[in-house]
Amino acid sequence: MVDINEPVIWIKNPAAVFAQNCEGGVVIQGQKIIEIVKLGHSPKTQIDDTYDASESVLLPGLINTHHHFYQTLTRAYPEALNKELFPWLKSLYKVWANIQPEMLAVSTELALSELLLSGCTTASDHHYLFPSQLENAIDIQVEEAQKLGMRVVLTRGSMSLGEKDGGLPPQSVVQTKEQILSDSERLIKTYHDNQEGAMIQIALAPCSPFSVTTDLMIETAALAEQYDVRLHTHLAETIDEEKFCLEKFGLRTVDYLESVGWLSDRTWLAHGIHFNKQEIEKLGQNGVGICHCPTSNMMLASGICHSLELEEAGSIIGLGVDGSASNDGSNMIAELRQAMYLQRLRYGASKITHQKAYDWATKGSAALLGRSDIGEIAVGKQADLALFKLDELRFSGSHDSLAALLLCGAQKADRVMIAGQWKVMDGKIIGQDESELISRHSNAAKKLRQLASA
Ligand SMILES: [Zn+2]
Repeated sequence: MVDINEPVIWIKNPAAVFAQNCEGGVVIQGQKIIEIVKLGHSPKTQIDDTYDASESVLLPGLINTHHHFYQTLTRAYPEALNKELFPWLKSLYKVWANIQPEMLAVSTELALSELLLSGCTTASDHHYLFPSQLENAIDIQVEEAQKLGMRVVLTRGSMSLGEKDGGLPPQSVVQTKEQILSDSERLIKTYHDNQEGAMIQIALAPCSPFSVTTDLMIETAALAEQYDVRLHTHLAETIDEEKFCLEKFGLRTVDYLESVGWLSDRTWLAHGIHFNKQEIEKLGQNGVGICHCPTSNMMLASGICHSLELEEAGSIIGLGVDGSASNDGSNMIAELRQAMYLQRLRYGASKITHQKAYDWATKGSAALLGRSDIGEIAVGKQADLALFKLDELRFSGSHDSLAALLLCGAQKADRVMIAGQWKVMDGKIIGQDESELISRHSNAAKKLRQLASA
């Protein structure tokens, strides 16, 4: 319901917009879009306020569906450079085991700020580290997201298969199945909002086949079903992982996923690279979604997602920046460019257009999160918007403004609105002292390195 006492704002005549029949702009009341305006028309609704968007490209707020916020503390980490996934993880697990609560708080604040400044309005995080000092990790993340006013889907990740049982992570970062399930239930009951316009949602996310026991996968799926929350994990990211599944479970990754009851439209997977034809069919038929993470896949040399075959089979594709130790940035608009270019290497230029990249990062990502109220500029949707100006050197001489954002390499939104509220103006987060945040965050990162090498 829109409160009729809320002021009505017209975001007027954008230079370009990623939506149909909306060249005259968009009308907002409360947290929703109440009218879209055709070219040359004025709103039918009585307007209280107008924002002149004639120098801006207007997009639905971008949606990031895979991240690990805490990894902003270990960007370009010397011991992890130039490695592929398994050795990279082994170099970092022991560092991450030392993360303190205040470090998680500031890394969450920093990652969310970076995302917001790049036009992202909804972010999902996959937090799977719960060493003894960090058992309330998700509570900390909820607090940080609320401070910034960002929409989040925080996934309660988990690791239960340590080195001594044949898993990849050290024992110091794994928990028991009982601890994980009871905390998952507590978090859903405390924070998960299943209403339209929800700002905080919880999903369940055992980390990966090589760090989680079979029992935990099965029981997590049952818990997700019981509370009607979504399921997320990493799958088919590397050939090492496929070998691990064959050796440990005698199954390929998708067969393993099926064996633990995860082949459903409740599930979205990060990466989803190494699938054969039958596996793609099976995932599509069951409505399993895939979050494509192009930069991370290039950085760790993991491979290229079969996005179009997956879509054709029935899977939804969305985008994610992935954690900030394998990107090492949290820039969502830049990630669309990466997705477009990486996917062109597989499918050619005519099949992977800039519109395709926008679709993946908006409607596609929203659907991965099970949301129909975001990801689109249309009447009745949440007023989550990103506006970009083309007044930098990089855009000069460009002609198609929507294409230019990706082709010329946009980095920063000029304005961002979430649920009808401006959060970014003139390229700055309202109320934030950016240099103070950088200083607090980089000090935390230094301290973590000291703790890890002590
Ligand atoms: Zn990841």
